[in-house]
Amino acid sequence: MIHLESLVCYACQTNQNERNLFDDKDRRAIVGTCGHSICFTCSISDENRNCPICSKPNAFIHRTVNYEAMAQMEYYRTNMFATFRKWWETLELEYAPTVLRWGT
Ligand SMILES: [Zn+2]
Ligand SMILES: [Zn+2]
Repeated sequence: MIHLESLVCYACQTNQNERNLFDDKDRRAIVGTCGHSICFTCSISDENRNCPICSKPNAFIHRTVNYEAMAQMEYYRTNMFATFRKWWETLELEYAPTVLRWGT
């Protein structure tokens, strides 16, 4: 089971009270030194940003593209949009810390 929640930028959520999916442009996934990801826009908006998930300082200064997340995004976009949308609707209804759990 792929962890769909890893396709959302939590830095966007923190700043704008909304969740943004990664895409292949301004919101491409940038993986930090802690292993979490935020979008490119967030990574350049604050160079010294702490990780929004684990609060690690300066986690995204290297701006390493998270190709795994990008590949997952593409997969869901092309093959499983219905499944993805269903998950998204669930997230909207049951927004809670339990859906923010990362990894395994
Ligand atoms: Zn973001
Ligand atoms: Zn982190």
